[in-house]
Amino acid sequence: MKEIAIVGGGPAGAMCGERLASAGFAVTLFDEHLAWEKPCGGGLTHKAISTYPFLLDSPHPKKIVSTAELISSGGHRARFKMNHPIVIYSRTVLNGLLLDRASAAGCRNVQSRVTQMTPSNGRVRLTAGGEETSADFVVIAGGARNQLLPDTTPLKAADLEMTLGYFVPTDEQLIKVKFLKEFEGYIWSFPRADHVSVGICGKMTQNSSQGLRRHLDDFVRDEKISLEGARIYSHVLPSPQLHTLRRRRIVGKNWAMAGDAAACVDPITGEGLFYAMRSGDLLAEALIAGQPEAYPARMRSELVADLEIAARIARKVFCGNFLGGAITTRMVQMLNHSATFRDLIRDVFSGSQDYRSLKRRLWAQLGITLAELTRSFIDPNSCGDASSPVDGTEPAR
Ligand SMILES: Cc1cc2nc3c(=O)[nH]c(=O)nc-3n(C[C@H](O)[C@H](O)[C@H](O)COP(=O)(O)OP(=O)(O)OC[C@H]3O[C@@H](n4cnc5c(N)ncnc54)[C@H](O)[C@@H]3O)c2cc1C
Repeated sequence: MKEIAIVGGGPAGAMCGERLASAGFAVTLFDEHLAWEKPCGGGLTHKAISTYPFLLDSPHPKKIVSTAELISSGGHRARFKMNHPIVIYSRTVLNGLLLDRASAAGCRNVQSRVTQMTPSNGRVRLTAGGEETSADFVVIAGGARNQLLPDTTPLKAADLEMTLGYFVPTDEQLIKVKFLKEFEGYIWSFPRADHVSVGICGKMTQNSSQGLRRHLDDFVRDEKISLEGARIYSHVLPSPQLHTLRRRRIVGKNWAMAGDAAACVDPITGEGLFYAMRSGDLLAEALIAGQPEAYPARMRSELVADLEIAARIARKVFCGNFLGGAITTRMVQMLNHSATFRDLIRDVFSGSQDYRSLKRRLWAQLGITLAELTRSFIDPNSCGDASSPVDGTEPAR
């Protein structure tokens, strides 16, 4: 197997192209836009930065953010410093950086839309920009909505979230995340180098775009964000159910999927950039080893097993109750009153706490967290009280 075609030049396709071309494969990557401003927050957590340090070291414009604020549905706020910063790129810059690396490794990047793919004599025939070509193997990295080969299946509405947002030309230093009452999803504000990406994500089966727009506009008004010069965006985001993560076929004869196409996205946070890059990388490794059939097992042990835990608890996190209140509200309140709990949330938000060990850590810390909460109610001046500065950041409102 020598000639590989990649459909999609987002993080999954570009990373896969770079790895394969470096290993000597003849790789052609097709993307209808190449580097473009795909609707996205653009936030890269510690997982991504520690695996791919060039994302932090590159001279490309980006914002490095260390402080986040969580807002409950009732308006409680908690501001905290993350244990590792989040690096936020505009997608034009990030995609351009990854595509340039692929191109430097020898991958041929073609700006063209692939409209057809058909298996033919042990190879795959592709039509791109009206022209026919063929490859020994096709990497499908075309994002959440894609069905090109006959034996691939599109993601169902229950596995997708609808997103809606604004690119606002303003300067910010703080990440904000707001939860809504009994709502599976959240609103975010992510500062970038020269603008802010403000958006909302919610289950496609439970929301209309008008409903999402109302929630987002309420947030924009409450946070006094001026929409002058803002551009609106909308896109779909995979939010895979447990059985989709378990059963989705991501490899077949002469083809495999990576990134959003493989539904490799955190169903709670919507983080997909790291998973896209890493799945592209793992697929390349399997192809270089001449074992594409080994790719699903590698994905499962490194990425998908953890995402399955997230899929199992996602609804409970957003809509469940704890001590007579919404879990998200209790989380915001506990952040202000327990230093131990705050330390855990800092790791969760910066992406250095996986789901597999989260439950164990929560249980192990329960006693001390409760003791800190009790102390803070008895003595409001004790460590971690909402009225005192949190590790050098502004006091929470
Ligand atoms: C609103 C929103 C906010 C998000 N915020 C974050 C965030 O802050 N952090 C995070 O980690 N993740 C975030 N995500 C998720 C993240 O954007 C995706 O998981 C990630 O982009 C997936 O990468 P990918 O390469 O699989 O697909 P994509 O980035 O979607 O790339 C697919 C590419 O394929 C091309 N393509 C599609 N079909 C064809 C075709 N037929 N022919 C040629 N080209 C084609 C497209 O032009 C596109 O460039 C967000 C998603 C959304 C929608």
